[in-house]
Amino acid sequence: MANNNAIAVLGTGIMGAAMARNLLAAGMEVRVWNRSREKAEPLADDGATVADSPAEAAEGAGFVLTMLADTDAVTEAAGGEDGALSTLPGDGVWLQTSTVGLEGHEQLAVQAEEHGTIYVDAPVLGTKEPAEQGQLIVLASGPEEVQERCQPVFDAVGSKTLWLGPAGTGSRLKLVTNNWIVGLLGTLAETISLAEAVGVDPNQFLEVIEGGPLGVPYAQMKGQMMIEEEFPTSFSANLARKDANLVLQAAEANGLRLPLAEAAAEHFDEAINAGHGEETWPPSTRQPSPTTASPVGQPPGVREVRDNGLTYSRDLTYRKVVFYRKVVFFRRAGVSTQPFFMPRLFRQSANFLGNRVF
Ligand code: NAP
Repeated sequence: MANNNAIAVLGTGIMGAAMARNLLAAGMEVRVWNRSREKAEPLADDGATVADSPAEAAEGAGFVLTMLADTDAVTEAAGGEDGALSTLPGDGVWLQTSTVGLEGHEQLAVQAEEHGTIYVDAPVLGTKEPAEQGQLIVLASGPEEVQERCQPVFDAVGSKTLWLGPAGTGSRLKLVTNNWIVGLLGTLAETISLAEAVGVDPNQFLEVIEGGPLGVPYAQMKGQMMIEEEFPTSFSANLARKDANLVLQAAEANGLRLPLAEAAAEHFDEAINAGHGEETWPPSTRQPSPTTASPVGQPPGVREVRDNGLTYSRDLTYRKVVFYRKVVFFRRAGVSTQPFFMPRLFRQSANFLGNRVF
C-alpha cells in the first residue's frame, strides 16, 4: 500500500533538485536519488532522505517523479535492476516529467504497463529559475482517476497544470512548444546580430516592436538579455541538442521537414563537437562571427571574408578549418575560446531554454 504523502524524486540535476525542494516546502515526504550521489546529498539539509537506489527511494511511496536527462536514463532508473518500478506499490503513480519526446514516451508507457504502474506523462515548461520558484507549467496527461491525487504534487512545483488528455499528449505539446521557442529565439538572436552588423542599435529594434503585436514580452525579455549578454546557467547544450533531435524525429516520423529546426540542431552539434556540451549556455561574444554575418549588399555564400589579415571564401569546410585553428591557438595561449563557439543562436537558444518558458 502506497504512502500517499511520500514521493521519490529520481534525478536531482538543475530541475529535479529545485522541484524536490519545492515538494519539501509543501510538506511532502521526499526521498531523492541521483546517479551521482553527491548531487543529491545537499537536499538532506532541506529534509529529504537520500536513497542509494531508485528502488530504495520508491519503496512504499505514493509517487515516483522522474526528472532525468533522457529516455535511456529514465528507462534505467524506472525499470532497470534496482529500478523504482520494482518497489513502487501497485497504487503508486509514476510522474514522468523529463523531456523524452514521442518515441520516448511510448517506450516508457510500455514499461509502466509491463509493471502494472499508473503512468502520468507530465513534461514541464520553464527552466531553472521557474523551477526554483515553483512556477513551472506542467503539461500533464494520464488517467483521469489519478488527476486529483497528483494535483498537490504539481501545485508544489508549478504555477499552472494543464491536464491535456491521455498519457502522451503532454509530451506532444511539449515538443511543439519547444520548436516554437527555438524558432523565436533563433530569429531574435539573428535579428539582434544583424542590427549590430549593420550599425543599428538593437535597443531600437526592441523599441519598434514593443507594445504592438510583434513585440511579444518574451522577445523583449530575451532580447534585452542578448544585448546585455547576460545569461544565467540553466540548460546544457547537450540537452538542448537532445530536444532538437526529439523535434526532428517526430517531424520525420510524420513526413514533415523542418529546415529551421535542422539548422538549430546543426549549431548545437558544432558547440558539442567543440567540447562545450556540458557548458553553461550561452557563451559570450558581442562580435558577430565572420561566418554568420554578410556585409550589406553581399549575399551569404559568395562573399569574401576578411579576418586576421586573411581573405578567404565562405566555403563551409574551409571556414571550419580556420575556425578550429583559431580555437587551438587560443587554447594553447590559455585564452578562453568560449566566445568563438556560439554565435548568438547558441546563446539565445540556450537561454530561451534558459528562462521562463522551457
Ligand atoms: P541536468 O541538470 O543535466 O540533470 C540531468 C539528470 O539526469 C542528472 O540527475 C543526471 O545524473 C541524470 N542522468 C543523466 N544521464 C543519466 C544516466 N545515464 N543514468 C542515470 N541518470 C542520468 O538536466 P536538467 O536541466 O535538470 O534536465 C532534466 C530533464 O528536464 C531533461 O529531460 C531536460 O530536457 C528537461 N528540462 C530541462 C529544462 C531546463 O531548463 N533545464 C527545462 C524543461 C525540461 P548525474 O547528476 O549523475 O549526471
